[in-house]
Amino acid sequence: MDPAFCLSYLAHSTLFVNNLNINGTHEQKMKYLTKASSGELIGGMCMSEPGAGTDVLGMGTKASKRGDDWVINGTKMWITNGTVDGVNTGDAFLVYARTGEKRTDLSMFIVEKDMPGFSLGQKIEDKLGMRASMTAELVFEDVVVPEENMVGNLNGAALCMMRNLEVRGSETVNVGSEAVNVGNEAQRSELPDAAAIYDTLTPPTRRFAHRRSRESPLPQCPLESHAVASRRWPSTPCNARPSVPPSETSDRSRR
Ligand SMILES: Cc1cc2nc3c(=O)[nH]c(=O)nc-3n(C[C@H](O)[C@H](O)[C@H](O)COP(=O)(O)OP(=O)(O)OC[C@H]3O[C@@H](n4cnc5c(N)ncnc54)[C@H](O)[C@@H]3O)c2cc1C
Repeated sequence: MDPAFCLSYLAHSTLFVNNLNINGTHEQKMKYLTKASSGELIGGMCMSEPGAGTDVLGMGTKASKRGDDWVINGTKMWITNGTVDGVNTGDAFLVYARTGEKRTDLSMFIVEKDMPGFSLGQKIEDKLGMRASMTAELVFEDVVVPEENMVGNLNGAALCMMRNLEVRGSETVNVGSEAVNVGNEAQRSELPDAAAIYDTLTPPTRRFAHRRSRESPLPQCPLESHAVASRRWPSTPCNARPSVPPSETSDRSRR
């Protein structure tokens, strides 16, 4: 399996979906998880900042109360699925921000694409690897977020973050094995059998792959584009995009 695809799907399924499923309200789950499961929404999680990586509790992004709303200011860095098309922000994010004086006084908010003040700072180019997984800088300038978008308790998100990272802890193993896989694949002359890989994907992963294959720019050449295409047009080369956007209807009819 393409490691970059795994990374993108992990950010969507673990950092966004699992996090919201555990910490969100029923209403939040109904609003976002149904779309996340259909592939209509690709999610991510914003924790890291230009000046706060390993020392994540040193983050500077702040959320201040204004009337019934929260106003977020700050910059997040290295956000997987931060953009899907290289031009706009991704669809929705769980964003950690400082809401009190203590280092652990963090709260979590759902921020959606098109909220005023929320923008793509830059798509990170020329990563050492995982290039088919888009990574971005996201900028928050007076982003007004309604109270109903707070996930979990006020100043209670540090625990949510650490628990979610524990789930993601399996990522340490995953990313390590992905690195080994990248090395192994680099030594093989032929492309992996994308069609066979496609057949191993679960339905939610396929829907995620279809969505990304429609919107990711060509130079990324994500394996899922090839996998989706190869199931529809078996002779499609790796660097070609499906000429007809795969539709949910045809995806369902094949199963
Ligand atoms: C491809 C990719 C995708 C990512 N996706 C996301 C995402 O979706 N969301 C998100 O929030 N973040 C994401 N990140 C950011 C990631 O969480 C950070 O890179 C990570 O937390 C490390 O932070 P840093 O890169 O600033 O490294 P630093 O914190 O600067 O660390 C650099 C090195 O110093 C070591 N180090 C740091 N502090 C200490 C210490 N006190 N003692 C000993 N050694 C130390 C570290 O182990 C590391 O080897 C992503 C990063 C990458 C590369």
